[in-house]
Amino acid sequence: RAKAQGNDRCAVFDEAMREQALRSLDLEADLRRAIINRDFMPFYQPIVRLSDGELVGHEALLRWQHERRGLLLPSAFLDLGEESGLIEQVDWLLYEQVITQLARGGRGYLSVNVSPRHFRSADFSTRLFGLIEAAGADPHRLRLEITEVALLDDGPRTLRILQTLRERGVLVQLDDFGTGFSALSYLHRFPISTLKIDQSFIAGLHGQDMQSTHALVQGVLSLARTLGIETVGEGIETQAQHDTLLQLGCDYGQGYLLGRPAPMATTATA
Ligand code: C2E
Ligand code: MG
Ligand code: MG
Ligand code: MG
Repeated sequence: RAKAQGNDRCAVFDEAMREQALRSLDLEADLRRAIINRDFMPFYQPIVRLSDGELVGHEALLRWQHERRGLLLPSAFLDLGEESGLIEQVDWLLYEQVITQLARGGRGYLSVNVSPRHFRSADFSTRLFGLIEAAGADPHRLRLEITEVALLDDGPRTLRILQTLRERGVLVQLDDFGTGFSALSYLHRFPISTLKIDQSFIAGLHGQDMQSTHALVQGVLSLARTLGIETVGEGIETQAQHDTLLQLGCDYGQGYLLGRPAPMATTATA
């Protein structure tokens, strides 16, 4: 009897897996078509100085204008994009739009997210500077956001890429800081301009473990200050979070309280 039950469960499991596989096949076909049709656009979210509310830049966030399903967030297709390797093509389509936007003027920087594997691919910086030059954009106003994963493995190679970017004026920020390996030695070894403290810590500032979260965030902020690295608090939703971060010495902030991601047309900068 137990065996029969086990088999039943297996059958249900298989069916669910089959459906899941078919659905992701569908989405992959959609993604390939969307790349040909260039169905992607950036939304821009403001980043402000916490001390005086001054706008310093925007993060460009990927949106897929799906032909049937409407506007899709990265969470709906990023895993698939990374597994299939298609995300690199999507990223380039987005960078092109962001760099064109930069060349149009406006103030402050625009930052773009880079998938770890993509960042280390052979022609990444060559292609990036090719786009910047073709558009006549100022590289000093473009920033890249990478995660700690991108710093793992092949240190010398990663270091070379980061140095090239730095020499040519493109600053690199460490995104979602605190969620990865957070080997603090990385901060010393690699030229990183900015730490973006992950939103889970910002949420934790007033949550259950608020005391230990305070201590942790304070430690990260003071280390960053010592190393001359600027800091951005991510996912600021409340005035209390804003005030605590400011008081702990965080330089900049990003979050719904300060501005939601929106097409450039509806934000102040452009
Ligand atoms: P991220 O780089 O850490 O971006 C911040 C995410 O937090 C964004 O989600 C943003 O909309 C969201 N956010 C901002 N303020 C708040 C807030 O106050 N509360 C909450 N709950 N969320 C807030 P989004 O746009 O869905 O992007 C998710 C992730 O997808 C990004 O995290 C980034 O890792 C990735 N991503 C976004 N654009 C690109 C891209 O062009 N290329 C690649 N490869 N990845 C991208
Ligand atoms: Mg980011
Ligand atoms: Mg982040
Ligand atoms: Mg994130």
